[in-house]
Amino acid sequence: MHSLQFRIGLSYILVLLGVLLLLNTYPLLVSEDLVFHSKTVNLQNSVSVMVNSLSGLSVLTEENVADAMSVVEETGLSRILVTDSAGRVLYDTRETDSAVGSYALYTEIVQALMGEDASSCTYRGAAFRSRASSPVLYQNQIIGAVYAYEYDTDQAALLSGLQENLLRLSAVAGVLVLALSLILSKALTRKIGLLLTAIQKVREGSYSHRADIPGRDEIARIGREFNSLTDRLQTTEAARRRFVSDASHELKTPLAAIRLLSDSIIQTDCIDLDTTREFVSDIGREAERLSRITEDLLRLTRLDSGVLEPPAAVEVLPVLEQVMRMMNLVAQEKNVDLTYSASGDCAVLGTRDEIHQVIYNLTDNAVKYCGSGGSVQVSLFSEKEDVVLTVADNGGGIPEADLPRIFERFYRVDKARSRAAGGTGLGLAIVSDTVKRRGGAVEAANRPGGGALFTVRWPRLEGGGA
Ligand code: ADP
Repeated sequence: MHSLQFRIGLSYILVLLGVLLLLNTYPLLVSEDLVFHSKTVNLQNSVSVMVNSLSGLSVLTEENVADAMSVVEETGLSRILVTDSAGRVLYDTRETDSAVGSYALYTEIVQALMGEDASSCTYRGAAFRSRASSPVLYQNQIIGAVYAYEYDTDQAALLSGLQENLLRLSAVAGVLVLALSLILSKALTRKIGLLLTAIQKVREGSYSHRADIPGRDEIARIGREFNSLTDRLQTTEAARRRFVSDASHELKTPLAAIRLLSDSIIQTDCIDLDTTREFVSDIGREAERLSRITEDLLRLTRLDSGVLEPPAAVEVLPVLEQVMRMMNLVAQEKNVDLTYSASGDCAVLGTRDEIHQVIYNLTDNAVKYCGSGGSVQVSLFSEKEDVVLTVADNGGGIPEADLPRIFERFYRVDKARSRAAGGTGLGLAIVSDTVKRRGGAVEAANRPGGGALFTVRWPRLEGGGA
């Protein structure tokens, strides 16, 4: 009852019934009307001819009426009556059951005796019955009436033939339209069914299922849109699964190390203080790694949720100077020469913390991966509509094959080296997401002379900031 196919089918049938009803009544009514009109006009004309032949008579008698009527041409009418002014029949064409001498007070005769022409026509029992009458006048005095009656089955047969043909035509049209509507509504509901099945399958988790809807109509287009939506869903779902599995793996490694170290302390008999200290400090380092990973994961989750702190105008230079002061100590420790240059008015829309995070992650990586004796240059400048930050180092750079994947979560070129350097594999992903959320972009490249070059572009804010 609630199915689309039922509703479409029902509306087709209702429309069809309406059309067939109209087809079977309107033409018949119009033809009936036309026949009525022509019959009454013809009959009235015949009556006028008879009235004319009676004109000139001052009084109507059976004899003079019979004389006058004998010259009237054969009319083919079923019955003709002529009455005197009282309605007594003086002349009747019917031979058996002749009404001559009796009163014939038919409605039409009464109307004629009152001075009016009268006519009527009915269609009943496969025959047209038409009646007409007119008064007979002598010096403006009504001296009688002429009444004519016609019983016609020929035209009635034509009309019923038309009716039968219309019925046959309607039956054929009805069957055709019904069959066609059934095929159409079935095709439509079949397509909707395919789409529905695809939606259900994808909802239940089979993201590889696609709706295969043929044609170019709206439903086929919805199917194609659904498929591209599912493509995106599948990609996002795959990325989410990979992220969850990578994250658990990353968390498992330091936890396993902590467990191993603590088990060693507990299970080793007579363990000396120095070894214990060494193990405990290793446990501390792994715990620190865990907290770094969870912090980075939280940061990424916040970025994913799309709920950002409201942006403000931030002047990048003071943030850069702050990061450089911090990083200088680390760089000195690693024997890396860290320098920076800044020029122009470099205000962007964002928060101080996120800009700090971006500069810190990139500089930290450069210092981490350029190795002892290397150098790192950070530059900040404005170019056209952008504020540009570049971080260049003279380390080993990044293999060309890895460049396109460097911003993916947990992607590292050299896992062991990254872990040894305290990396989480999330630093560049955080940089990329943070910058993109504020309408900027970040790129990684290798310098011609060796080393990596990272370039961040933020949309420049005119007028400066804090
Ligand atoms: P990690 O915590 O491992 O540093 P990142 O997301 O910050 O994670 O960086 C991803 C990977 O990109 C690193 O593991 C490293 O292999 C590579 N990488 C990043 N910066 C540099 C750089 N300046 N020079 C060479 N390789 C780099």
